[in-house]
Amino acid sequence: MKFHIITIFPESFVSFLESSIIWRANNAGLFEVELYKLNSFSTKKFGQVDDKAYGMHGQVLRPEPLAEWIEHIFKKVWKKIPVIFMSPSWELLVQKKVEEMSQEMQESIILCGHYEGIDQRIIDIYVDYEISIGEYVLSGWEIAAQVFIDALVRHIPDVLWNPESLEEESFSKKLGRQKEYPVYTRPATFHWLTVPLVLRSGNHAEIEIWKHSHLR
Ligand code: SAH
Repeated sequence: MKFHIITIFPESFVSFLESSIIWRANNAGLFEVELYKLNSFSTKKFGQVDDKAYGMHGQVLRPEPLAEWIEHIFKKVWKKIPVIFMSPSWELLVQKKVEEMSQEMQESIILCGHYEGIDQRIIDIYVDYEISIGEYVLSGWEIAAQVFIDALVRHIPDVLWNPESLEEESFSKKLGRQKEYPVYTRPATFHWLTVPLVLRSGNHAEIEIWKHSHLR
């Protein structure tokens, strides 16, 4: 799986790509990220890529630098690949959608919006998927891009140490898209709370019944 990310702030991906599971998967070549600094295609003096919105308040990302990078990437990979733009006003990202996209999405371009958003003509001409990560507004798309990539990447085989975690977790098909049961580790007693006896019994049939009766 490969993501080409067009952003004003490539540096905001550094700590994301250097942490935990994402770092290991990236290092093992299980997925790839390539970052493109939007401003390098700016036609303005100080690399400015935004401009005043027509008829309303705020700044909007101009279409030319975005289009230049998208065309550049299409040429580089010798084909048209899906273009994704995150937008609070579009389809909400849910686990079922993550599962589908992690199967379909071999290589894609992610556009990181800022300010009031990007010029609508880029969406009309190039964007294949507009996805929201939740019903609230973020100031920049980089965080949303990282949420999206993290959710997809953990579905790539070998990314997780324990593939069963994927099969049975919150919102998974196996759990009827419900939220996972509580989980515990040692010590058996912590403060005044003790791990349910059945989980320490080694009786797998009983544990299965317990798990299904404790979905949240
Ligand atoms: N004026 C816009 C919000 C702009 S926020 C509106 O009212 O809808 C700046 C950028 O962050 C946007 O371009 C969008 O791409 C991204 N963004 C903000 N909230 C988001 C969310 N919940 N999900 C996905 N992307 C989001």
